[in-house]
Amino acid sequence: MDPNGERDTERSSLSGPTIDEVIWSALFSAKEKRMQQELTTQLRSQLRGVVIGPSDPGYDEARKVYNAMISRKPKLIAKCADVADVITAVAFGRQHGLKVSIRGGGHNAGGLGVCDDGLVIDLSTIKYVHVDAAAGTVRVGGGTTWGDVDHATHAFGLAVPSGIISTTGVAGLTLGGGLGYLTRQFGLTIDNLLAADVVLADGTFVVASATENADLFWAIRGGGGNFGVVTSFLFRAHPVKAVVAGPMLWEIDDAADVMKWYREFIVNAPEQLNGFFAFMTVPPAPPFPEALHFRKMCGIVWCYNGTQEQAEKLLAPLRKFRQPAFEFFAPMPFPVLNSMFDALYTPGLQWYWKADFVKELSDKAIALHVKHAAELPTLHSTMHLYPINGAAHRMKAGDTPWGYRDAIWSEVIVGVDPDPANKDRITAWARDYWEALHPYGAGGGYVNFMMEGEGEDRIRATYGDNYQRLARIKAKYDPENFFRVNQNIPPAAGVNVSAKAG
Ligand SMILES: Cc1cc2nc3c(=O)[nH]c(=O)nc-3n(C[C@H](O)[C@H](O)[C@H](O)COP(=O)(O)OP(=O)(O)OC[C@H]3O[C@@H](n4cnc5c(N)ncnc54)[C@H](O)[C@@H]3O)c2cc1C
Repeated sequence: MDPNGERDTERSSLSGPTIDEVIWSALFSAKEKRMQQELTTQLRSQLRGVVIGPSDPGYDEARKVYNAMISRKPKLIAKCADVADVITAVAFGRQHGLKVSIRGGGHNAGGLGVCDDGLVIDLSTIKYVHVDAAAGTVRVGGGTTWGDVDHATHAFGLAVPSGIISTTGVAGLTLGGGLGYLTRQFGLTIDNLLAADVVLADGTFVVASATENADLFWAIRGGGGNFGVVTSFLFRAHPVKAVVAGPMLWEIDDAADVMKWYREFIVNAPEQLNGFFAFMTVPPAPPFPEALHFRKMCGIVWCYNGTQEQAEKLLAPLRKFRQPAFEFFAPMPFPVLNSMFDALYTPGLQWYWKADFVKELSDKAIALHVKHAAELPTLHSTMHLYPINGAAHRMKAGDTPWGYRDAIWSEVIVGVDPDPANKDRITAWARDYWEALHPYGAGGGYVNFMMEGEGEDRIRATYGDNYQRLARIKAKYDPENFFRVNQNIPPAAGVNVSAKAG
């Protein structure tokens, strides 16, 4: 050690650590380990749920998220058993100055449910669904997945509008907006949110609804996990039992024509009919015929909430225009449709995506889509155009933070593959595709289809005129930006943060 307290870094030309460095690092890591152990023990003594630290068995499993590209190493994972645990975990995070992430279903492609060197408030054990069939409402725990909700509501002939994969978390999907098979008929998931229980950054428990903390209720309907930990959601449910649904596929050579037909059709189609457009590579498995295996194709995945006769009548012009090369379009229970792609998109794949809202699908944009789709890099890679018109347009731009109420589609370009060696390839393809199409987009993109770190400009563009209002509400409810592992909206400066109510 030199007189200034700096370590002696002199070393021989053979390099390798000096003896001082070895001793120092052993002492340092022993101290770190002791501190880590103390933190774990302290939090463990305060929670009903399980606390997992880096040296505990199950740590690697507990820190895993859906996207295998993400590998973050938190100091602590608090699997909260109830609301009291969440309140305690928030207070603990503040007391120890820990970075905090909130985990619902762990599906966020940017991995925003986990953080490095911080505390994960994991709600995956706060899982329940209570259906009030008479009231047509459903109360859902903060760690529930959509498969749980579909299962519980289907028994009552009901459904809550959600997405297209059943393993996605209710929390993250809802707080970012929520679009899927029922969007055109019943709106976004947030349009069906009636109330939420929220633990704020200072540990206060509040209810957010149209009548209680209305500003907070506005903010959580699209503003993501910026405002607190939502421990429970109350949704309006709708009569949905069996739907007539599934994919129709066409050869990639037909893609431009089918896309042009689709862009005209979907803006005028009845709201009970939803159909998202996709580019895909046909999986080598049933129900697809062998002749189509591994073939790049385009498709529309339909969902009609009505009779088969009505559905066939509606889609007769499409069959006349271009007969599908393959289809799996039939009556099925709604939960079957909502989990149809689960087996293809299992957890543990490499996942990179980029998104835009789209108001107009021009011939030029279509030509670019077809060009990039012909280069789909892997079996799982895809592009989806989700319609967000119909009932979703009945809410206006300022009614919720989800501002693009006049967009017709939410576009997402998705590079996916099981093999980490293909990470760069799928990423480069998705970026190139997105860069080519971005000039034809509406400006922003859906926050739930973004990776981490796309930048403040992207987030501002996405919220548009609603951004400043969100920043002011953030300043009121989370003035120190305690909840910042998300598509972050930093608190606006100079806002009076004293009174929370109202
Ligand atoms: C395969 C797949 C399919 C998808 N399909 C759709 C789709 O059809 N429609 C659609 O709209 N989206 C879809 N998404 C996107 C999805 O909405 C987002 O990835 C969303 O973030 C997932 O929510 P989660 O709870 O599973 O995520 P997590 O990774 O657990 O959390 C993501 C972020 O949400 C916030 N959050 C989570 N839980 C809470 C909570 N209880 N309280 C406060 N904040 C919380 C936090 O900020 C967290 O960082 C899909 C994603 C994947 C990977």
